[in-house]
Amino acid sequence: MEQLVAPWRIEWVERDDSASAEADEGCVFCRLPERGDDRETLVVARSAHAFVLLNNYPYNPGHAMVIPYDHAGDYRALDDATLLDHARLKQRTFDAIEDALGPDAFNAGLNLGGPAGGSVADHLHTHVVPRWEGDTNFMPVVSGTKVIVEAVEETYDRVHEAFAAQSDATVTETGAVRVDFD
Ligand SMILES: [Zn+2]
Repeated sequence: MEQLVAPWRIEWVERDDSASAEADEGCVFCRLPERGDDRETLVVARSAHAFVLLNNYPYNPGHAMVIPYDHAGDYRALDDATLLDHARLKQRTFDAIEDALGPDAFNAGLNLGGPAGGSVADHLHTHVVPRWEGDTNFMPVVSGTKVIVEAVEETYDRVHEAFAAQSDATVTETGAVRVDFD
């Protein structure tokens, strides 16, 4: 299966019809964290410069994306504060998914530029994909998207709970877990 070679090359698809209707109104990764309902939009955690969004069409349960708030497509253009914050939020995301879902391994990576496979090429996002031994054996590929056995809302709640249990974590008014770093 092609996805096994580069499992982070997964097209991110709009979550529902209302989101699709708004697709013309600018960058989805700029809009979703501004929507105000983090569970609905699947924003599960936030830091000072980045946020964690669960993929609505995940490769595996817990497939997340760590995304700087800044609308930037060039990783090399990120300032130091954003780079460090984004990296630390990735570490916290590994922790949260590990605690919530107990994967055997992770794939993590960036698609930079449209030809690399990214569907939102002008707003960079790091995919974090938990992997299990044998996870390719029971989940068939349908139209390029894996069939996921766990509803994404249930995954959201489990990962959210794991983030909330981390140090210096608080639940925000919009629902996501705010994490701060020393
Ligand atoms: Zn954007």
